[in-house]
Amino acid sequence: SKIASGLRKTKDFLFGGIQRVLNSFTVIDEELFDQLEEQMIMSDIGVETSEEICDRLRKKIKERGITDPKEIMGLIHEVISEIMGDDTGLDLTVSPAVIMVIGVNGAGKTTTIGKMCHQFRQEGKKVLVAAADTFRAAAIDQLEVWTQRAGVDIVKHAEGSDPGAVVYDALEAAKARECDVVVIDTAGRLHNKKNLMEELKKINRIIDNKAGDCSREVLLVLDATTGQNAVNQAKLFSETAPITGIVLTKLDGTAKGGIVISIKNELGIPVKLIGVGEKIDDLQPFDSNMFVDALFA
Ligand code: GDP
Repeated sequence: SKIASGLRKTKDFLFGGIQRVLNSFTVIDEELFDQLEEQMIMSDIGVETSEEICDRLRKKIKERGITDPKEIMGLIHEVISEIMGDDTGLDLTVSPAVIMVIGVNGAGKTTTIGKMCHQFRQEGKKVLVAAADTFRAAAIDQLEVWTQRAGVDIVKHAEGSDPGAVVYDALEAAKARECDVVVIDTAGRLHNKKNLMEELKKINRIIDNKAGDCSREVLLVLDATTGQNAVNQAKLFSETAPITGIVLTKLDGTAKGGIVISIKNELGIPVKLIGVGEKIDDLQPFDSNMFVDALFA
């Protein structure tokens, strides 16, 4: 599957590293846990989550009277499945469903929106995109290239105009045209943090007022190749809007897929979609079971 091939590098690094540790021990002791934890931290599972996984492992090992290090791999599979929990997909039940897409520049917002629109179109949905990253003309142009590729409408204003006005117009148009989904692109200039946060909050208020009864998603796009930095970005962005899901991009090119576990455990935000390539159909719904199996089975 695309998930398995997208996670190949992560699996080689994480599973391979853990297996090497387990093979080098004949008894289960604290030195073994130290080395396991180190492997997990190197795979971007994060310090906090790696410690928690080891704590849960110690408990299970004690409860079940396990003495053979080789049995630990199965337990890791089990513990990570528990941490990942059940999946939640996008909620698009009440039309027009509004999906606000946030994230820093370069994370893959534009590409993700293009891929998402393509998927919605294939499901027969009527889609409208709001070009609310008005800060750079290039951003609007790029987004338009993707909307044309996906065959969906776009609402755009001139460069430098008020992003809130774009969102307002898009929501009006979506109601008039009886759209199923509105996807809102937003600016990602994190270096101007205060302005960006205010801008995102304002857009969120406009959605509250204009589409308060509609289904809502706030998707944070994170670049998997940035590892633990992505987790820190998630913490920052969660101050601007209630994030309902993460889109983790560029999983295909990285061994840092462990951040999925850390995001879920430390932030409690589900990963809903993953990007596994640059093409229009390289977006997959995230499936925890497939994810854990791809890494540990
Ligand atoms: P934005 O600034 O957040 O809108 O980012 P873009 O959508 O322009 O993406 C930045 C770069 O990342 C582009 O070169 C994309 O082709 C690339 N990209 C986005 N998603 C993926 C992905 O899932 N896999 C790979 N390999 N590249 C991606």
